[in-house]
Amino acid sequence: MAASRTKTKELLQSAGLAATKQRIALMAELQSARKPVSADMLTERLDGVLNMTTVYRALDQLVSARLVRRIDLGKNHALFELAAHHHHHIVCTTCGRVEDISECMPPTLTSRVLAKATKFAAVEDHALEFFGLCKKCV
Ligand SMILES: [Zn+2]
Ligand SMILES: [Zn+2]
Ligand SMILES: [Zn+2]
Repeated sequence: MAASRTKTKELLQSAGLAATKQRIALMAELQSARKPVSADMLTERLDGVLNMTTVYRALDQLVSARLVRRIDLGKNHALFELAAHHHHHIVCTTCGRVEDISECMPPTLTSRVLAKATKFAAVEDHALEFFGLCKKCV
């Protein structure tokens, strides 16, 4: 636990963010969740440590610093997870279940995107989610 706290501090600092207690608590909560969680769930888990406004503000900063990934599920609903490993998601449109897909898209896709884009010179990252029905909801 102490080791992971130090690592979190270093991550924050190398991203140019102050290693505040709030940010560290949020990162620790995301790590212990082991699956993408909503801002509401985080606020609930951090009850008494961080209020809703602080959670949203800290999440925004962590997403901008690319330490946390935001998974947009549409309908004003988003989930958050640590951005440590690049991966994709498949989301059930009925119950909201999310599964990680560790395989990435073929690199040829990046060159195709660059070929189509007229005002961009480089692709640095991408996000891609798949939507469908889980086995329980079929
Ligand atoms: Zn489902
Ligand atoms: Zn994930
Ligand atoms: Zn990918």
